[in-house]
Amino acid sequence: SRRRRLGATRTCASWAGCSPRPSTTSRAVRGTRRRPSTAVRRRSAPSSHLVALLRRYEAWHRRCGPGSPLFGEAVEHLRSGRNAARSECQYAVWTPFNGLGNRMLALASTFLYALLTDRVLLVHAPQEFDGLFCEPFPGSSWTLPAGFPIADFDATFTMLSPTSYKNMKKAGTINGGDRVNVTAEGLPAYVFLDLIQSYTDAAFCEADQRVLAKFNWMVVKSDVYFATALFLMPAYRRELARLFPEKEAAFHHLARYLFHPSNDVWGIVRQFYEAYLAGADERVGLQVRVFQEVPVPFETMYGQIMRCLEQEGLLPKVALAQQNAAAARNTSAVPPPDGRKTKVTSILVTSLSPEYYERIRGVYHANWTETGDYVVVHQPSHDGVQHTEARGHNQRALAEIYLLSFCDRIVTTAVSTFGYVAHGLAGVRSWVLLRSPSPETPAEPACVRSSTVEPCMQAAPRQMCGAAKGSDIGGLAPYVRHCEDVHGGVKLF
Ligand code: GDP
Repeated sequence: SRRRRLGATRTCASWAGCSPRPSTTSRAVRGTRRRPSTAVRRRSAPSSHLVALLRRYEAWHRRCGPGSPLFGEAVEHLRSGRNAARSECQYAVWTPFNGLGNRMLALASTFLYALLTDRVLLVHAPQEFDGLFCEPFPGSSWTLPAGFPIADFDATFTMLSPTSYKNMKKAGTINGGDRVNVTAEGLPAYVFLDLIQSYTDAAFCEADQRVLAKFNWMVVKSDVYFATALFLMPAYRRELARLFPEKEAAFHHLARYLFHPSNDVWGIVRQFYEAYLAGADERVGLQVRVFQEVPVPFETMYGQIMRCLEQEGLLPKVALAQQNAAAARNTSAVPPPDGRKTKVTSILVTSLSPEYYERIRGVYHANWTETGDYVVVHQPSHDGVQHTEARGHNQRALAEIYLLSFCDRIVTTAVSTFGYVAHGLAGVRSWVLLRSPSPETPAEPACVRSSTVEPCMQAAPRQMCGAAKGSDIGGLAPYVRHCEDVHGGVKLF
Protein backbone atom coordinates (compact mmCIF):
# COMPACT_ATOMS: atom_id res chain seq x y z
CA SER A 1 0.00 0.00 0.00
CA ARG A 2 1.18 3.49 -0.76
CA ARG A 3 -0.46 4.71 2.43
CA ARG A 4 1.91 6.20 4.91
CA ARG A 5 0.19 6.05 8.26
CA LEU A 6 0.79 8.00 11.39
CA GLY A 7 0.75 4.79 13.34
CA ALA A 8 0.71 5.77 17.01
CA THR A 9 -2.08 4.93 19.36
CA ARG A 10 -0.91 6.33 22.67
CA THR A 11 -2.27 9.57 23.95
CA CYS A 12 -0.37 12.77 24.46
CA ALA A 13 -1.04 14.78 27.54
CA SER A 14 -1.08 18.42 26.65
CA TRP A 15 0.37 21.54 28.20
CA ALA A 16 -1.18 21.40 31.63
CA GLY A 17 0.04 18.32 33.51
CA CYS A 18 1.89 16.88 30.54
CA SER A 19 2.93 13.32 31.15
CA PRO A 20 6.52 12.15 30.75
CA ARG A 21 7.97 12.01 27.30
CA PRO A 22 7.55 8.50 25.91
CA SER A 23 3.78 8.51 26.34
CA THR A 24 3.05 11.46 24.11
CA THR A 25 1.65 10.86 20.69
CA SER A 26 3.43 13.63 18.87
CA ARG A 27 6.70 12.42 20.32
CA ALA A 28 6.06 8.76 19.72
CA VAL A 29 5.17 9.30 16.10
CA ARG A 30 7.84 11.68 14.99
CA GLY A 31 10.47 9.16 14.09
CA THR A 32 8.15 6.93 12.14
CA ARG A 33 6.43 9.78 10.33
CA ARG A 34 9.48 11.24 8.73
CA ARG A 35 10.36 8.35 6.49
CA PRO A 36 13.41 9.24 4.45
CA SER A 37 12.30 10.43 1.08
CA THR A 38 14.11 10.02 -2.18
CA ALA A 39 12.99 13.51 -3.15
CA VAL A 40 14.96 15.32 -0.50
CA ARG A 41 18.09 14.97 1.56
CA ARG A 42 17.20 14.68 5.21
CA ARG A 43 19.39 15.88 8.05
CA SER A 44 21.92 13.83 9.96
CA ALA A 45 21.08 12.62 13.47
CA PRO A 46 21.78 14.96 16.39
CA SER A 47 25.40 14.83 17.53
CA SER A 48 26.25 12.76 20.59
CA HIS A 49 27.49 15.96 22.18
CA LEU A 50 24.07 17.59 21.75
CA VAL A 51 22.31 14.52 23.09
CA ALA A 52 24.57 14.43 26.15
CA LEU A 53 24.05 18.15 26.77
CA LEU A 54 20.27 17.75 26.55
CA ARG A 55 20.34 14.92 29.12
CA ARG A 56 22.43 17.08 31.47
CA TYR A 57 20.11 20.01 30.85
CA GLU A 58 17.05 17.91 31.72
CA ALA A 59 18.60 16.91 35.06
CA TRP A 60 19.49 20.55 35.66
CA HIS A 61 15.97 21.65 34.81
CA ARG A 62 14.55 19.16 37.31
CA ARG A 63 16.90 20.47 39.98
CA CYS A 64 16.16 24.14 39.39
CA GLY A 65 12.73 24.09 37.76
CA PRO A 66 9.33 25.05 39.19
CA GLY A 67 8.47 23.12 42.34
CA SER A 68 12.08 22.62 43.43
CA PRO A 69 13.47 24.23 46.61
CA LEU A 70 16.09 26.05 44.52
CA PHE A 71 13.35 27.56 42.38
CA GLY A 72 11.54 28.71 45.52
CA GLU A 73 14.70 30.42 46.74
CA ALA A 74 15.33 32.12 43.42
CA VAL A 75 11.76 33.40 43.30
CA GLU A 76 12.15 34.83 46.80
CA HIS A 77 15.22 36.76 45.63
CA LEU A 78 13.29 38.04 42.65
CA ARG A 79 10.47 39.13 44.92
CA SER A 80 12.91 40.96 47.18
CA GLY A 81 14.00 43.10 44.22
CA ARG A 82 17.66 42.19 44.66
CA ASN A 83 19.92 40.10 42.53
CA ALA A 84 21.55 37.47 44.74
CA ALA A 85 25.35 37.40 44.81
CA ARG A 86 25.58 33.74 44.11
CA SER A 87 22.81 31.55 42.92
CA GLU A 88 23.07 27.94 41.93
CA CYS A 89 20.33 28.31 39.35
CA GLN A 90 19.91 31.06 36.79
CA TYR A 91 16.87 31.45 34.59
CA ALA A 92 15.92 32.69 31.13
CA VAL A 93 12.21 33.43 30.99
CA TRP A 94 10.86 33.59 27.46
CA THR A 95 7.82 35.73 26.76
CA PRO A 96 5.93 35.50 23.46
CA PHE A 97 5.71 38.21 20.86
CA ASN A 98 4.15 38.32 17.38
CA GLY A 99 2.84 35.34 15.38
CA LEU A 100 3.41 31.67 16.02
CA GLY A 101 6.30 31.30 13.57
CA ASN A 102 8.11 34.22 15.18
CA ARG A 103 7.42 32.74 18.58
CA MET A 104 8.79 29.32 17.75
CA LEU A 105 11.97 30.80 16.24
CA ALA A 106 12.52 33.03 19.26
CA LEU A 107 11.77 30.25 21.75
CA ALA A 108 14.18 27.83 20.07
CA SER A 109 16.83 30.59 20.08
CA THR A 110 16.22 31.30 23.76
CA PHE A 111 16.59 27.61 24.51
CA LEU A 112 19.93 27.50 22.71
CA TYR A 113 21.01 30.61 24.57
CA ALA A 114 19.97 28.99 27.86
CA LEU A 115 21.97 25.86 27.00
CA LEU A 116 25.07 27.90 26.21
CA THR A 117 24.85 30.11 29.29
CA ASP A 118 23.71 27.51 31.85
CA ARG A 119 20.29 28.98 32.38
CA VAL A 120 17.03 27.15 32.93
CA LEU A 121 14.45 27.93 30.27
CA LEU A 122 11.03 28.98 31.52
CA VAL A 123 8.07 30.05 29.47
CA HIS A 124 5.50 32.72 30.14
CA ALA A 125 2.43 31.18 28.54
CA PRO A 126 -0.54 33.48 28.11
CA GLN A 127 -3.87 31.76 27.45
CA GLU A 128 -3.49 31.80 23.66
CA PHE A 129 -0.17 29.97 23.93
CA ASP A 130 -1.50 27.44 26.39
CA GLY A 131 -2.71 24.23 24.75
CA LEU A 132 -0.24 24.31 21.89
CA PHE A 133 2.71 22.28 23.09
CA CYS A 134 3.51 19.43 25.45
CA GLU A 135 6.03 20.00 28.20
CA PRO A 136 9.45 19.22 26.73
CA PHE A 137 11.52 18.46 29.83
CA PRO A 138 10.81 15.18 31.58
CA GLY A 139 9.91 15.30 35.25
CA SER A 140 9.57 19.06 35.35
CA SER A 141 7.78 21.98 33.81
CA TRP A 142 8.88 24.92 31.73
CA THR A 143 5.77 26.95 32.55
CA LEU A 144 6.00 29.83 35.01
CA PRO A 145 3.87 28.79 37.97
CA ALA A 146 0.93 30.77 39.30
CA GLY A 147 2.00 33.43 41.76
CA PHE A 148 5.19 34.26 39.90
CA PRO A 149 6.24 37.77 41.05
CA ILE A 150 6.07 39.27 37.55
CA ALA A 151 2.49 39.15 36.30
CA ASP A 152 1.83 41.72 33.61
CA PHE A 153 4.47 40.87 31.03
CA ASP A 154 2.99 42.98 28.25
CA ALA A 155 3.08 46.16 30.29
CA THR A 156 6.37 45.42 32.02
CA PHE A 157 8.43 44.52 28.97
CA THR A 158 8.29 47.24 26.37
CA MET A 159 11.00 49.02 24.40
CA LEU A 160 10.96 51.75 27.04
CA SER A 161 11.31 49.45 30.06
CA PRO A 162 13.94 50.73 32.49
CA THR A 163 14.88 47.10 33.14
CA SER A 164 15.84 46.47 29.54
CA TYR A 165 19.55 45.83 29.13
CA LYS A 166 20.02 48.39 26.42
CA ASN A 167 18.12 51.04 28.41
CA MET A 168 20.12 50.26 31.55
CA LYS A 169 23.28 50.65 29.54
CA LYS A 170 22.09 53.95 28.12
CA ALA A 171 21.08 55.23 31.55
CA GLY A 172 24.41 54.17 33.04
CA THR A 173 22.73 51.81 35.55
CA ILE A 174 25.18 49.19 34.40
CA ASN A 175 28.04 49.29 32.04
CA GLY A 176 28.81 46.67 29.46
CA GLY A 177 32.48 47.62 29.31
CA ASP A 178 35.23 45.34 30.56
CA ARG A 179 36.63 47.95 32.90
CA VAL A 180 33.60 48.35 35.08
CA ASN A 181 33.33 45.88 37.87
CA VAL A 182 29.62 45.55 38.41
CA THR A 183 28.98 43.33 41.38
CA ALA A 184 26.09 40.94 41.16
CA GLU A 185 24.52 42.31 44.37
CA GLY A 186 24.53 45.80 42.94
CA LEU A 187 22.27 44.79 40.09
CA PRO A 188 18.49 44.85 39.83
CA ALA A 189 16.67 41.57 40.44
CA TYR A 190 16.30 40.82 36.76
CA VAL A 191 17.28 42.03 33.34
CA PHE A 192 15.06 42.29 30.30
CA LEU A 193 16.79 41.26 27.10
CA ASP A 194 14.87 43.02 24.37
CA LEU A 195 15.70 41.31 21.08
CA ILE A 196 12.75 42.44 19.04
CA GLN A 197 13.54 42.97 15.35
CA SER A 198 15.80 46.02 15.21
CA TYR A 199 17.11 45.59 18.75
CA THR A 200 19.25 42.56 18.13
CA ASP A 201 22.31 44.83 18.34
CA ALA A 202 21.89 45.01 22.07
CA ALA A 203 23.48 41.89 23.37
CA PHE A 204 25.93 40.09 21.17
CA CYS A 205 29.19 41.44 22.54
CA GLU A 206 31.24 39.34 24.90
CA ALA A 207 31.43 42.26 27.33
CA ASP A 208 27.63 42.45 27.39
CA GLN A 209 27.42 38.75 27.97
CA ARG A 210 29.75 39.03 30.96
CA VAL A 211 27.41 41.55 32.58
CA LEU A 212 24.29 39.65 31.61
CA ALA A 213 25.75 36.50 33.18
CA LYS A 214 25.57 38.17 36.60
CA PHE A 215 21.79 38.43 36.54
CA ASN A 216 20.10 35.39 37.99
CA TRP A 217 16.85 36.24 36.24
CA MET A 218 16.61 37.27 32.64
CA VAL A 219 13.46 37.84 30.61
CA VAL A 220 13.86 37.41 26.86
CA LYS A 221 11.41 38.88 24.39
CA SER A 222 12.08 38.43 20.72
CA ASP A 223 10.45 37.60 17.41
CA VAL A 224 13.71 36.77 15.69
CA TYR A 225 15.75 33.63 15.12
CA PHE A 226 18.66 35.11 17.03
CA ALA A 227 20.37 31.72 17.37
CA THR A 228 22.29 32.62 14.22
CA ALA A 229 24.03 35.49 16.02
CA LEU A 230 25.25 33.12 18.74
CA PHE A 231 27.16 31.20 16.06
CA LEU A 232 29.03 34.41 15.26
CA MET A 233 30.21 35.02 18.82
CA PRO A 234 33.75 33.76 19.45
CA ALA A 235 32.81 32.67 22.99
CA TYR A 236 30.31 30.09 21.72
CA ARG A 237 31.80 29.03 18.41
CA ARG A 238 33.71 26.00 19.64
CA GLU A 239 30.86 24.59 21.65
CA LEU A 240 28.38 25.21 18.84
CA ALA A 241 30.63 23.46 16.36
CA ARG A 242 30.59 20.38 18.60
CA LEU A 243 26.86 20.59 19.21
CA PHE A 244 25.97 21.10 15.56
CA PRO A 245 28.58 19.62 13.21
CA GLU A 246 25.96 20.21 10.51
CA LYS A 247 25.15 23.86 11.18
CA GLU A 248 22.36 23.80 8.67
CA ALA A 249 20.48 21.46 11.00
CA ALA A 250 20.68 23.59 14.17
CA PHE A 251 17.06 24.73 14.23
CA HIS A 252 15.92 21.35 12.94
CA HIS A 253 17.38 19.55 15.95
CA LEU A 254 16.45 22.22 18.48
CA ALA A 255 12.86 22.42 17.27
CA ARG A 256 12.35 18.69 17.03
CA TYR A 257 13.59 18.33 20.59
CA LEU A 258 11.65 21.25 22.04
CA PHE A 259 8.31 21.31 20.24
CA HIS A 260 5.71 18.60 20.61
CA PRO A 261 2.18 19.49 19.59
CA SER A 262 -0.46 18.94 22.26
CA ASN A 263 -3.19 16.30 21.92
CA ASP A 264 -5.59 18.80 20.44
CA VAL A 265 -3.15 19.97 17.81
CA TRP A 266 -1.90 16.49 17.09
CA GLY A 267 -5.50 15.39 16.62
CA ILE A 268 -5.93 17.91 13.81
CA VAL A 269 -2.63 16.91 12.24
CA ARG A 270 -3.35 13.24 12.40
CA GLN A 271 -6.89 13.35 11.05
CA PHE A 272 -5.97 15.57 8.17
CA TYR A 273 -2.84 13.67 7.32
CA GLU A 274 -4.56 10.29 7.35
CA ALA A 275 -7.52 11.51 5.35
CA TYR A 276 -5.81 13.58 2.67
CA LEU A 277 -2.09 13.06 2.53
CA ALA A 278 -1.19 9.54 3.63
CA GLY A 279 -2.45 7.88 0.45
CA ALA A 280 -0.49 10.04 -1.97
CA ASP A 281 2.75 9.01 -3.64
CA GLU A 282 4.14 12.45 -3.13
CA ARG A 283 3.15 15.42 -0.98
CA VAL A 284 3.88 18.98 -2.01
CA GLY A 285 3.35 21.65 0.65
CA LEU A 286 2.51 25.14 -0.57
CA GLN A 287 2.47 27.94 1.99
CA VAL A 288 0.99 31.18 0.74
CA ARG A 289 1.35 34.20 2.97
CA VAL A 290 0.29 37.63 1.81
CA PHE A 291 1.48 40.29 4.23
CA GLN A 292 -0.70 43.28 4.91
CA GLU A 293 2.23 45.62 4.39
CA VAL A 294 2.93 44.14 0.95
CA PRO A 295 -0.52 43.42 -0.47
CA VAL A 296 0.34 41.40 -3.56
CA PRO A 297 -2.78 41.12 -5.74
CA PHE A 298 -4.27 37.63 -6.04
CA GLU A 299 -3.58 37.22 -9.77
CA THR A 300 0.07 38.27 -9.36
CA MET A 301 0.65 35.84 -6.50
CA TYR A 302 -1.25 33.03 -8.18
CA GLY A 303 0.75 33.52 -11.38
CA GLN A 304 3.98 33.44 -9.42
CA ILE A 305 3.02 30.24 -7.64
CA MET A 306 2.13 28.46 -10.88
CA ARG A 307 5.33 29.63 -12.59
CA CYS A 308 7.34 28.34 -9.65
CA LEU A 309 5.60 24.96 -9.55
CA GLU A 310 6.02 24.53 -13.29
CA GLN A 311 9.57 25.84 -13.68
CA GLU A 312 10.83 23.76 -10.79
CA GLY A 313 9.01 20.64 -11.97
CA LEU A 314 7.16 20.32 -8.69
CA LEU A 315 3.89 19.22 -10.27
CA PRO A 316 2.94 17.47 -13.49
CA LYS A 317 1.94 19.93 -16.17
CA VAL A 318 -1.66 20.38 -17.11
CA ALA A 319 -2.53 18.70 -20.43
CA LEU A 320 -3.08 20.67 -23.60
CA ALA A 321 -6.63 21.29 -24.81
CA GLN A 322 -6.62 18.46 -27.40
CA GLN A 323 -5.41 15.97 -24.81
CA ASN A 324 -8.21 17.04 -22.53
CA ALA A 325 -10.70 16.69 -25.33
CA ALA A 326 -9.43 13.23 -26.21
CA ALA A 327 -9.58 12.19 -22.60
CA ALA A 328 -13.15 13.44 -22.42
CA ARG A 329 -13.99 11.17 -25.42
CA ASN A 330 -12.55 8.38 -23.33
CA THR A 331 -9.83 7.45 -25.76
CA SER A 332 -7.27 7.17 -23.01
CA ALA A 333 -5.47 10.22 -24.27
CA VAL A 334 -3.04 10.51 -21.44
CA PRO A 335 -1.79 7.16 -20.21
CA PRO A 336 1.46 7.28 -18.29
CA PRO A 337 4.00 7.26 -21.14
CA ASP A 338 6.07 4.35 -19.88
CA GLY A 339 3.19 2.10 -18.90
CA ARG A 340 3.91 2.62 -15.23
CA LYS A 341 1.28 3.00 -12.54
CA THR A 342 -0.25 6.44 -12.27
CA LYS A 343 1.12 8.55 -9.49
CA VAL A 344 -0.93 10.67 -7.09
CA THR A 345 0.50 13.94 -5.85
CA SER A 346 -1.28 15.64 -2.99
CA ILE A 347 -0.83 19.37 -2.69
CA LEU A 348 -1.31 20.77 0.77
CA VAL A 349 -2.14 24.45 0.56
CA THR A 350 -1.85 26.51 3.72
CA SER A 351 -2.99 30.09 3.64
CA LEU A 352 -5.24 32.45 5.51
CA SER A 353 -7.17 32.80 2.26
CA PRO A 354 -9.11 30.04 0.43
CA GLU A 355 -8.62 31.53 -3.05
CA TYR A 356 -5.30 29.93 -3.98
CA TYR A 357 -6.55 26.50 -3.02
CA GLU A 358 -9.78 27.01 -4.96
CA ARG A 359 -8.05 28.13 -8.13
CA ILE A 360 -5.37 25.41 -8.10
CA ARG A 361 -7.90 22.74 -7.25
CA GLY A 362 -10.12 23.97 -10.07
CA VAL A 363 -7.25 23.65 -12.54
CA TYR A 364 -6.49 20.04 -11.64
CA HIS A 365 -10.16 19.08 -11.37
CA ALA A 366 -10.95 20.32 -14.82
CA ASN A 367 -7.86 19.06 -16.61
CA TRP A 368 -5.78 15.99 -17.11
CA THR A 369 -2.07 16.17 -16.61
CA GLU A 370 0.41 15.56 -19.42
CA THR A 371 1.76 12.50 -17.68
CA GLY A 372 -1.63 11.04 -16.82
CA ASP A 373 -0.74 11.33 -13.14
CA TYR A 374 -3.22 12.74 -10.67
CA VAL A 375 -2.99 15.86 -8.59
CA VAL A 376 -5.32 16.40 -5.65
CA VAL A 377 -5.44 19.62 -3.69
CA HIS A 378 -6.35 20.18 -0.03
CA GLN A 379 -6.42 23.03 2.45
CA PRO A 380 -7.06 22.44 6.15
CA SER A 381 -8.33 25.91 7.15
CA HIS A 382 -8.68 29.47 5.93
CA ASP A 383 -9.20 31.78 8.86
CA GLY A 384 -9.06 34.94 6.74
CA VAL A 385 -7.04 37.06 9.11
CA GLN A 386 -4.37 36.49 11.71
CA HIS A 387 -5.73 36.05 15.25
CA THR A 388 -2.67 35.41 17.37
CA GLU A 389 -4.73 36.17 20.49
CA ALA A 390 -7.03 33.18 19.86
CA ARG A 391 -5.99 29.73 21.00
CA GLY A 392 -8.04 27.77 18.43
CA HIS A 393 -6.56 29.83 15.61
CA ASN A 394 -3.03 29.16 16.88
CA GLN A 395 -3.77 25.45 17.20
CA ARG A 396 -4.82 25.33 13.55
CA ALA A 397 -1.73 27.30 12.58
CA LEU A 398 0.55 24.92 14.48
CA ALA A 399 -1.18 21.89 12.98
CA GLU A 400 -0.59 23.33 9.51
CA ILE A 401 3.05 24.03 10.22
CA TYR A 402 3.43 20.35 11.12
CA LEU A 403 1.41 19.17 8.12
CA LEU A 404 3.66 21.22 5.85
CA SER A 405 6.66 19.70 7.55
CA PHE A 406 5.44 16.22 6.60
CA CYS A 407 5.52 17.09 2.92
CA ASP A 408 8.26 15.83 0.63
CA ARG A 409 8.71 19.18 -1.10
CA ILE A 410 7.80 22.51 0.41
CA VAL A 411 7.20 25.84 -1.26
CA THR A 412 7.17 28.78 1.14
CA THR A 413 6.53 32.50 0.90
CA ALA A 414 9.49 34.87 1.27
CA VAL A 415 9.93 36.52 4.68
CA SER A 416 7.40 34.27 6.42
CA THR A 417 8.57 32.75 9.69
CA PHE A 418 5.61 30.34 9.48
CA GLY A 419 7.29 28.83 6.43
CA TYR A 420 10.75 28.87 8.05
CA VAL A 421 9.51 26.74 10.92
CA ALA A 422 7.78 24.26 8.61
CA HIS A 423 10.80 23.53 6.43
CA GLY A 424 13.11 23.71 9.45
CA LEU A 425 11.12 21.00 11.23
CA ALA A 426 11.05 18.96 8.04
CA GLY A 427 14.78 19.32 7.57
CA VAL A 428 14.36 20.22 3.90
CA ARG A 429 15.34 23.20 1.79
CA SER A 430 12.23 24.89 0.57
CA TRP A 431 11.52 26.66 -2.68
CA VAL A 432 11.05 30.29 -1.71
CA LEU A 433 8.49 32.41 -3.55
CA LEU A 434 10.52 35.60 -3.81
CA ARG A 435 9.17 39.02 -3.02
CA SER A 436 9.03 41.39 -5.95
CA PRO A 437 10.35 44.94 -5.40
CA SER A 438 6.79 46.15 -6.00
CA PRO A 439 3.61 44.21 -5.17
CA GLU A 440 2.15 44.85 -8.63
CA THR A 441 5.11 43.45 -10.56
CA PRO A 442 5.65 39.71 -10.78
CA ALA A 443 8.77 38.44 -9.05
CA GLU A 444 11.47 37.13 -11.34
CA PRO A 445 12.48 34.39 -10.87
CA ALA A 446 9.24 33.21 -9.31
CA CYS A 447 11.10 31.16 -6.70
CA VAL A 448 14.53 29.91 -5.77
CA ARG A 449 15.64 26.87 -3.85
CA SER A 450 16.84 27.91 -0.41
CA SER A 451 20.54 27.32 0.17
CA THR A 452 19.82 25.91 3.61
CA VAL A 453 17.28 24.35 5.91
CA GLU A 454 18.00 27.02 8.52
CA PRO A 455 15.61 29.91 9.17
CA CYS A 456 16.74 33.39 8.26
CA MET A 457 17.71 35.72 11.08
CA GLN A 458 15.85 38.59 9.52
CA ALA A 459 16.94 41.46 11.76
CA ALA A 460 20.63 40.72 12.02
CA PRO A 461 22.75 42.95 14.27
CA ARG A 462 24.13 45.83 12.23
CA GLN A 463 27.52 45.19 13.71
CA MET A 464 28.95 42.21 15.53
CA CYS A 465 31.44 42.98 18.28
CA GLY A 466 35.00 42.43 17.28
CA ALA A 467 34.19 42.80 13.59
CA ALA A 468 35.71 45.73 11.72
CA LYS A 469 33.38 48.71 11.41
CA GLY A 470 31.23 48.50 8.33
CA SER A 471 32.05 44.82 7.74
CA ASP A 472 29.39 42.70 6.15
CA ILE A 473 27.79 40.37 8.67
CA GLY A 474 27.08 37.91 5.87
CA GLY A 475 30.83 37.52 5.35
CA LEU A 476 31.91 37.12 8.98
CA ALA A 477 32.16 33.34 8.94
CA PRO A 478 32.34 30.71 6.21
CA TYR A 479 29.05 29.25 7.41
CA VAL A 480 26.81 32.33 7.23
CA ARG A 481 25.37 34.07 4.23
CA HIS A 482 22.64 36.52 3.43
CA CYS A 483 19.15 35.14 3.06
CA GLU A 484 17.56 34.80 -0.37
CA ASP A 485 14.39 36.51 0.81
CA VAL A 486 15.69 39.16 3.23
CA HIS A 487 18.96 40.53 2.04
CA GLY A 488 19.88 42.22 5.33
CA GLY A 489 19.26 38.95 7.17
CA VAL A 490 21.72 36.09 7.60
CA LYS A 491 21.45 32.37 7.90
CA LEU A 492 23.64 29.40 8.64
CA PHE A 493 24.36 26.89 5.94
P1 GDP B 1 4.79 35.29 9.54
O1 GDP B 1 4.00 36.50 9.95
O2 GDP B 1 4.43 34.77 8.19
O3 GDP B 1 6.26 35.49 9.71
O4 GDP B 1 4.39 34.06 10.49
P2 GDP B 1 3.81 34.03 11.97
O5 GDP B 1 3.47 32.59 12.22
O6 GDP B 1 4.75 34.64 12.92
O7 GDP B 1 2.50 34.90 11.96
C1 GDP B 1 1.48 34.67 11.04
C2 GDP B 1 0.25 34.11 11.75
O8 GDP B 1 -0.88 34.26 10.87
C3 GDP B 1 0.33 32.64 12.04
O9 GDP B 1 0.95 32.34 13.24
C4 GDP B 1 -1.13 32.27 12.02
O10 GDP B 1 -1.72 32.72 13.20
C5 GDP B 1 -1.64 33.09 10.86
N1 GDP B 1 -1.39 32.39 9.59
C6 GDP B 1 -0.62 32.81 8.58
N2 GDP B 1 -0.64 31.92 7.58
C7 GDP B 1 -1.40 30.89 7.97
C8 GDP B 1 -1.78 29.65 7.37
O11 GDP B 1 -1.38 29.29 6.27
N3 GDP B 1 -2.58 28.83 8.10
C9 GDP B 1 -3.02 29.18 9.33
N4 GDP B 1 -3.82 28.33 9.99
N5 GDP B 1 -2.70 30.35 9.93
C10 GDP B 1 -1.88 31.19 9.25
